[in-house]
Amino acid sequence: MSDSMANARPATACGEAPRPPEGARVATREQLAHWTRSLDCIHCGLCLSSCPTYQVTGRENASPRGRIYLMRAVAEGRLEPDASYTQALDECLVCRNCETACPSGVRFGELMEFARDEEKKRVPPRGLAGFVERIAFRHVLPKRRVLGALLGALRLYQRSGVQTLVRKSGLLRRMAPQLAAREALLPAIPSRRERGPLLERYPAHGERRATVGFLTGCVMHPLMPEVHRATIRVLNEQGFDVVVPSSQGCCGALHFHFGHADEGKELARANLRAFLREPLDAIVNNSAGCGAAMKEYPHQLEGEEAQRFATLVRDVSEFLVERGLRPIAPGRKLRVAYDEPCHLIHAQKISAAPKQLLRAIPGVELLPFEGQESCCGAAGIYNLVQPALANAILSPKIAAIAKVQPDVVVTGNPGCLMQLRNGLAAAGLAIPVKHPIELVP
Ligand code: SF4
Ligand code: SF4
Repeated sequence: MSDSMANARPATACGEAPRPPEGARVATREQLAHWTRSLDCIHCGLCLSSCPTYQVTGRENASPRGRIYLMRAVAEGRLEPDASYTQALDECLVCRNCETACPSGVRFGELMEFARDEEKKRVPPRGLAGFVERIAFRHVLPKRRVLGALLGALRLYQRSGVQTLVRKSGLLRRMAPQLAAREALLPAIPSRRERGPLLERYPAHGERRATVGFLTGCVMHPLMPEVHRATIRVLNEQGFDVVVPSSQGCCGALHFHFGHADEGKELARANLRAFLREPLDAIVNNSAGCGAAMKEYPHQLEGEEAQRFATLVRDVSEFLVERGLRPIAPGRKLRVAYDEPCHLIHAQKISAAPKQLLRAIPGVELLPFEGQESCCGAAGIYNLVQPALANAILSPKIAAIAKVQPDVVVTGNPGCLMQLRNGLAAAGLAIPVKHPIELVP
């Protein structure tokens, strides 16, 4: 059978659902749903030029079309999943640039997350890397105390002078270059006091307009507590009561992206319980990745509660613009470069709201730059597991930012914040990177 015939949409009688061919590995309802969705790809190739990994490698297997072809071939039993299949899956950022470009409405993110989960179940990650991955996804990200202890140890490493010694001696670079590259990405860990828990409730200033729940997430609060405090401050000043349920947890986004769907679903259920206990007008978050995952809980969980939860979820810029902004006090004059997080622009289709929020701040001038809508290569922990590709994807963005010389770069996702900070620092550019909400005086 030729490739084009093998990948053609199966012919069916009018109105009949397509059926997988004989020998297909399509046994469950979920497998059937994802195989059927893979048929939406008409192989037009319009997504290729917007795919960061295809742009960098030029390989069809590193493109959306190629990856869908492989997923479908595996599902239909025409291809044995091997190392090159795993590589094609692993190299994807799940940035979903391809979804924006696709004229056929392919839900690529869902296809990729499902394929990764199937693959992880078929061949659980082995060796030291597999052990670290299991510990991270099962015992660190979902457990605030364990994560806190780990961050405490890392802060000690940074503050005791050991980090300076390790970096200056170059020993780690010589003995374990891959580990050294990852160590270089470690952000400065805030103090224990700064990482301390938030209150359960923060009252609105002036007349109360609504009550919102606030997602603190897993790593965002301990790594960037200033962004959470700024978000709560602005919401209060804009007239919103903010409720921070203490029983909430990680949103599960990283788990879904990296093939740990069962654990992700458990976390999603816990968040439904935490946030749906009391009437809320919205569930606000300030992380593009978390927001996208929470809006898509109904893809992961059945039932009315997941639907109800998802309809309440709003990115903070989306929420403030939707509700109408109270006048913002003038701040100092700032030339601002806004980098669009993939999970805001491509997964949630939100591009105008953060810019509207920024333009509403007196003194802010927005500087457009080339590639501001493209991926920065952070993609959760992608920059840790695929550092070479992540750097190649990041480089043109850093060069484009350098050209416009902003006073500050802003972006609404913790992974992108850290990736841009590292990229700018490595290029010797002393440009701060902040969350847009931090610019509201
Ligand atoms: S999600 Fe991103 S990296 Fe993956 S195929 Fe689509 S555009 Fe390419
Ligand atoms: S644009 Fe859509 S339909 Fe066309 S090849 Fe890419 S994923 Fe397939």
